Amino acid sequence: MSLNFVTVDCPSCKQSLKINTDYISASFKCSHCGNGHLVIKENGEIIALNPPDKMQSLIFHIMRVMPLEIWGFKQSANYFATFSLNSISHQSGNSNIPTVIYNSEKCRVMFQIEDSGIGRNDGSFIYYGRLHAPNDMPIMKWNNENCYCWHNILDIPLSFLDGLSLSGAANRSGSQWRELINSLRASTEFTNSSTEHIQYPLKLHAAIWNKYGNELFNLFDLRETKLWIQYTQYLKECYDIRGRSSHYSPEFDKIC
Ligand SMILES: [Zn+2]
Repeated sequence: MSLNFVTVDCPSCKQSLKINTDYISASFKCSHCGNGHLVIKENGEIIALNPPDKMQSLIFHIMRVMPLEIWGFKQSANYFATFSLNSISHQSGNSNIPTVIYNSEKCRVMFQIEDSGIGRNDGSFIYYGRLHAPNDMPIMKWNNENCYCWHNILDIPLSFLDGLSLSGAANRSGSQWRELINSLRASTEFTNSSTEHIQYPLKLHAAIWNKYGNELFNLFDLRETKLWIQYTQYLKECYDIRGRSSHYSPEFDKIC
């Protein structure tokens, strides 16, 4: 048995706790207040206990991982959303999804925490919006048409920035962002971490910010009208190849 301990604060009662570095269970019960908390690990080491409140948990992980200051992001809203961008096709009016939004002078970024779909674990989900995107709506009117105003970049947007051919982008093959994902997946940073599905997407987006920087943020900058026209044309042509589904309204290439 190891005699090494790590000292962490209880997120509930703020008392300092010693945990054996060999501790392998998913959660740890505080000896002061009796509350159980998920164990957060990185590179095999315990770094903290997860706040029990989902909103606090989301903000805790964002603050740890995302280089917000470097790119000039400031928190502009936090609230409980009634929509899930992750499952846009089955929105219910009574969801209660912790959501935090940050603005820079170029664009907005939205973080949500909800069921990851993997076990019963929570996951983090990240979307980008132009500065006109409302806090609490996934769709808005733009030039008299309903358009998606919050965007998942892990597909066509990054393929566009990679300069991938239309057929490559339409078939989701060969782009640099795929290599980035594969290299992050191959690392063992979050082995046995109970909050892996919160940590990993944030780490991925932090890596994307480091790699693409303003190339990414300019794409959503309302002042970059030419770039936006090029991008929306590229998106439209990708869906010309992929095909469109009548299940979705508006269709996925209606964006603003
Ligand atoms: Zn406690």
